[in-house]
Parts: sequence; C-alpha cells; structure tokens
Amino acid sequence: MLYLDHAATTAVHTEVQREMQPYFSQYYGNPSGIYEFAEDAREMLQRTRRKIAQSLHAVPEEIYFTSGGTEADNWALKGVAESLQNKGKHIITSQIEHHAVLRSCEYLERRGFEITYLSVDENGMISLEELMQSIRPDTILISIMFANNEIGTLQPIAEIGSIARKHHILFHTDAVQAYLHEKIDVENLQIDLLSASAHKFQGPKGVGFLYVRSGCPIEALLHGGSQEAGMRAGTENVPGIIGMGKAVSLQMDRIEENRQYVKKLRNYVVDRIQKEIPYVTFHGSMKKRLAGNINMHFSYIEGESLIILLDMEGICVSAGSACASREGVSHVLKAIHIPDNLARGTIRVTIGEENTMEEMDFFVDRLKVCVSNLREFSDEYAQKRLENSKRRV
Ligand code: PLP
Repeated sequence: MLYLDHAATTAVHTEVQREMQPYFSQYYGNPSGIYEFAEDAREMLQRTRRKIAQSLHAVPEEIYFTSGGTEADNWALKGVAESLQNKGKHIITSQIEHHAVLRSCEYLERRGFEITYLSVDENGMISLEELMQSIRPDTILISIMFANNEIGTLQPIAEIGSIARKHHILFHTDAVQAYLHEKIDVENLQIDLLSASAHKFQGPKGVGFLYVRSGCPIEALLHGGSQEAGMRAGTENVPGIIGMGKAVSLQMDRIEENRQYVKKLRNYVVDRIQKEIPYVTFHGSMKKRLAGNINMHFSYIEGESLIILLDMEGICVSAGSACASREGVSHVLKAIHIPDNLARGTIRVTIGEENTMEEMDFFVDRLKVCVSNLREFSDEYAQKRLENSKRRV
C-alpha cells in the first residue's frame, strides 16, 4: 500500500503508541484523583501541556485539550461569540475554511451574528485589503485558517495578526493542517486562538487542543467537573493526550528538516507529472503552500474513477478533502473558480515524511497508466485528439 493522503490523517508513530500503552491498563488512574496512583497520569498531562506551549511560544495555562480540530474550531468561534456578543456580533472568516469553521459560522448566523466570508484569489489567498475593508466597529473575531486542507495555501498569518491586533479584534486560526508542518510562534504572529489536531502529526485520532491567549474572553465549552480549568469539563482522554505529547516531542524540532524533505518529493512528482502526463492543471499557489500538498485535475477524466483505479493499484489519494469528498463539488475549488466539471476531476495527493523517492516514481508511473487508460474511454478526449490530428493535416 502506498499512502499519499497525509492531510486526511497520518499513521500513529510507533514511539507514540509505546508511550500511550501503559496508560490504558497500567496507569489508568483518573488524573483528578488525589492519591498517588493518579499522579503519573496527571503529571503526563501537564508535561504534554508544557510541550505544546513550548512548541508555540505560549504558556501551559493557555493550552486546553479537546477531542480534535472540529471541537477546537467550534469552541473558538462559539465561545468567543458568546462571550463578546454584547460588544458586537460581526465575525470575519474566509470562503475556504474547513466545514468545522463554516458550519459553526452558519450556526452563529442563525443566532443573529453576521459573518463576512472573504473571497480568495486563484491561489486560494485572501486579500488583506478586503479584510481591512470588512472590519466594522462591531467586529469581534477574525477566523482565517493557517493552511488550507485541500489546496495547501498558506495565508498571510503575520499580516492578519497585525491587522487584528491594531483593531483590537481577536484572531483565531485553524492550524490543523499546519501545526508541526510549519513553524508557528503565536507571539510573533499575534494569534489569540489556535486549533490543532493530533492525528495530523502522527498522534492518535480524537484528540487535539485549542490555544487561548491569557485574558482572551471565551465561554466554557463543557460544564461539569473542573478539568481544563473548568473550561472543558470531562475526564481527560489520558492515553490520547499523552500520545499527542509524544508526537509533539518527536516533531517539534524537525519541522524544517521534514518540510524540506517532503517538498523535495512533492516538487519531483509535480515535475514528472508536468513533463509526462498531458492536460494536467495544478491548483493553488506553488510557493505559499504546505510542502506535501498537490491538488490537480486531468482534463477529460473523472476524479473519482481515477481514485478507484489508483486504489486498485494500492495507492491512496483523495478527492478534495476527506471530509468533503462525499459532499459533491468542493467549496474550495469553487472559491478559486475551478469550473464544476474540472473540480470533479480533481485529486489531492498529500505526501508525508515517511514516503520515499522510489514511492514517488511508482506513483507517477501508475498514475500515468491510470490516466491514459481512463482517457481511452473518454469521448471528449477522443474528440480532442481528432481535432488535433485534423489541425496537423
Ligand atoms: N480543520 C482542518 C483544516 C482540517 O483539515 C480538519 C480535518 O481534516 C479539521 C479542522 C477537523 O479536525 P478533526 O478531524 O481533528 O476533527
């Protein structure tokens, strides 16, 4: 099996698994317990909080564990909205956010909030000008993702942070795709809230965190016990959080090294595809982009058929994003003005640091065969070839 869908999820690192194992049945104490048996779990949670804080240039008290990116996004938007509703009811986001943000915004709209959805250019980039023009006296929050999950675009986070700070507006970023793949310093970038999810960086599924700057007004998410400083009640997912901590330790000092390696593989694949497979179009910026992301369509063929053929070869790639793949045409490709018929022909390939150059060659070789086989069946392609041959005569 050749796995090229790292934006959907990643394999749990063996060292992460090893670290988690004792906390299922050996040190299973509830971290809220006051006896010594619970102390180990409690200390490990604190260690994870410290590690995450260190990785972001934050302090441990600013890190709240969640069940993943969706929960962190929901909490950031709804929690800030509820807390600041008397100050204002306007939020700015972008058209290409993950559904965890977009659906939270729709929920808030139904409760009387007004949302501005910034457009993006053909590279998936927001316009800082449009952002500034959208700011109103009642704007309470700007939520713009760090990196897009479909086309990999990296937004101008430092500039957005600076604009938000200048206007005394809170700035949340969904960094689920970017955390530990790009360097992030919440101080330098002036980020007030940040969402992340462990399964995107070789940690377990169902665990993540929300960074909330000290003093940032936000309502509690879950009411009950005093876990997470009373902001997110409920017994913690101890093995998951410990696994996330280990994944952070393994990755935090290797961000640049991994990025360069994955980028080299990505550029090699793009180069070979460009040279060897006709009628391909790459989507999104090639510069301001996550290192491992390729998003492309092949004219005259259907993306889903290509994914099935590649699957039969043991190769996993996705259509758009994993969450959106069953929802029809991607809202991200729509926003960058890819026509529906071409958006349907789109595949997303996301490379990880455990992939090798040999695998990249295998992938392009098989892709070439699959695209060529599918085109044999395409009437539109046959017509195009006929026209070309007529032109040549
Ligand atoms: N935000 C982005 C940008 C994502 O890519 C994802 C998942 O793919 C999420 C949020 C949701 O994260 P989770 O799967 O941890 O709920």
